[in-house]
Amino acid sequence: MGELTRAFDWSKTSLGSPEVWSQSCLTSVYIMLTSKFPSLVFWGKELVTFYNDAFRPSLGNEGKHPSSLGQPGHISWAESWPVIGPMIHNIMAGGDAVWFEDQKLPIYREGRMGYAYWTYCFSPILDDDGSIGGLLVTCTETTRGVESLIQLGESESRFSNLVREANVGIVVLTGEEKKVEIANDGYARIIGFHAEQLLGKPIFDMIPAAKEVFEPVIDNVRNTEEIMYLYNAPYSVADENGNPKEGFVNLIYQPYREKDGSVTGVIVLAQDTTEQVLISQELNRQYEKEQKLNEELASINEELSAANEEMLIIQDDILSANARLTDSEERLRLTIESSNLGSCYMNMATREFIASPRMKELYGFYANEDMGFNDAVSLIADEYREMVLKAIDASLNQHQFYEVEYPVIGYHDKMLRWIKATGKIFDSDKSNAGIFFGTVEDITERKRDEQRKSDFIAMVSHEMKTPLTSMSGFIQLLQLEAVNIGNTFITSMSDKAARQVNKMTGMINGFLNVSRLESGKLTINKARFDLAQLIKDAEEESLSLYSTHRIIFHPAERIFVNADRDKMASVINNLVSNAVKYSAPGTAIHIVCIQENGMAQLSVSDEGAGIRKEDIPKLFDRYYRVEDQAMKAVSGFGIGLYLSCEIVHHHGGTIWVTSEVGEGSTFYFTIPID
Ligand code: ADP
Repeated sequence: MGELTRAFDWSKTSLGSPEVWSQSCLTSVYIMLTSKFPSLVFWGKELVTFYNDAFRPSLGNEGKHPSSLGQPGHISWAESWPVIGPMIHNIMAGGDAVWFEDQKLPIYREGRMGYAYWTYCFSPILDDDGSIGGLLVTCTETTRGVESLIQLGESESRFSNLVREANVGIVVLTGEEKKVEIANDGYARIIGFHAEQLLGKPIFDMIPAAKEVFEPVIDNVRNTEEIMYLYNAPYSVADENGNPKEGFVNLIYQPYREKDGSVTGVIVLAQDTTEQVLISQELNRQYEKEQKLNEELASINEELSAANEEMLIIQDDILSANARLTDSEERLRLTIESSNLGSCYMNMATREFIASPRMKELYGFYANEDMGFNDAVSLIADEYREMVLKAIDASLNQHQFYEVEYPVIGYHDKMLRWIKATGKIFDSDKSNAGIFFGTVEDITERKRDEQRKSDFIAMVSHEMKTPLTSMSGFIQLLQLEAVNIGNTFITSMSDKAARQVNKMTGMINGFLNVSRLESGKLTINKARFDLAQLIKDAEEESLSLYSTHRIIFHPAERIFVNADRDKMASVINNLVSNAVKYSAPGTAIHIVCIQENGMAQLSVSDEGAGIRKEDIPKLFDRYYRVEDQAMKAVSGFGIGLYLSCEIVHHHGGTIWVTSEVGEGSTFYFTIPID
């Protein structure tokens, strides 16, 4: 700048060339130029500008250097003259020196307008004559320092804003007592306070409930100077109103260092994770639930597929059973149709009753019209209805085979038809009510035949009774006469004739009894007598009648009964005569009479051929005889057991048989003891 100043053509300025400058001016310029401190001198009325090397950098390039040298102040510093001009003029007019620190002034440099900060002093310089000749400006540009301070300030406030507004809670705790140095709302919110309420206070005074858990962590970070992390730590505090507040928080503890590096506290970054934890707990619960459900589902699925398999097997069984069933059903239907049988079935669960067209026909209905169960029952002849219903009931409830014969009066045609009905309840398993399946057969013709037979037998028996009685009388006379004349041949012949007549009388009486029974004229003449005595009589009679078998009458105690003596005798005789007829000569027959449950019970056992199971239920039916080659040789009409059964029933007793084929049979009957 010394060089430039020397070379400058001062003659063109208001100062003129240096030869005319005052000593004071020269000295001031000299001091200024040699100073290492940035300085300027404004001299003379125009305040012509001088500046030194130290000031030179502040002028930059493409600005005031070197043009401002030698220029009047209001030109060289035109942009800041409105500020500094008045101060300078004031000093020139005798005012005090001024000093400014970091004053912001506009400046043109680097080809553009900008600002610069200055710390400067304007001080007056006396001229040789004692007046104020100029001004010394000592100044430093503080732009960089000020700007960095400003930046720092800005970044500080940005930082504090950041801290304040951060979603993350931040608190700085210092000293042994963990005083809150800095705290943001984020942190305060977590513990239920406002940030201002916390500042300057020991943190655990505010949240004593958290002290036990968190204070050791803070101490540890301070002592070890190591960062610590806590994830989803549960916390429990009381908020500013004393209400409990619980939750979860992520925490980062960092040592808080002073400039010198010493640790004086702990910075805590806290993030409330309550919501996330609750959500994730809920999710976990849901997941566990889902897992459980899945497991349950899997086991149900397993069960299902096992059940499915079972079902498939059952289905197969049903299909094949169905196939068999439809097959056998079809066969059954064909059999029934071809045999001219009517059929019906009743679903016991739904009470649905379906009758075949043939059955409807037998009951006097048209084939295409409906016939219900009650219709069928109402058409049964009055005196038979109860018996039929009882039989149906026994079949349904005791699962017995059902077989009854009864007359019905046709619904439309009012014709009397005899029906033989059979049936059985079918139930594949006990849990369902089953299906009753029945057949009905028209037996009117058979019944008429039987009736004709009965009528004929009754008529013949009746007609034979008188001649037989006469014959019996004549034979008795013949017997007496034969004894009288001592003719043994005639005696034996007349005895044989008497036996045959007796047999015949018995037979005729049987037929007459049957016809009496049918017409309801069978009379029972009851009287009190000793059954043991009757048995004794029967023993005597049988001894005279049968010589082929060992007939053993076991001794009986006296048992008084109130009964028809003759008819009881006929029952016993019939059982003994059957035993003789149906067992081989030489075998034994036992007749036993005992008391049992207030009843007199008589049994006749033989060692004969026995009776097949299927024949037993029909044995006591009228005219029933077992169809057997061996039986054919034995004469009989099948009325003995029928009559016996009726007689026993008329006395309020029961009759039954037990038998093994090839081993013999035992017939029992009971009547009440008097
Ligand atoms: P019948 O006149 O044919 O003997 P019953 O009514 O007395 O008539 O007997 C009916 C049928 O019962 C007989 O035809 C016979 O087949 C059978 N029966 C009766 N008693 C016996 C017996 N003790 N052993 C074997 N079968 C018998």
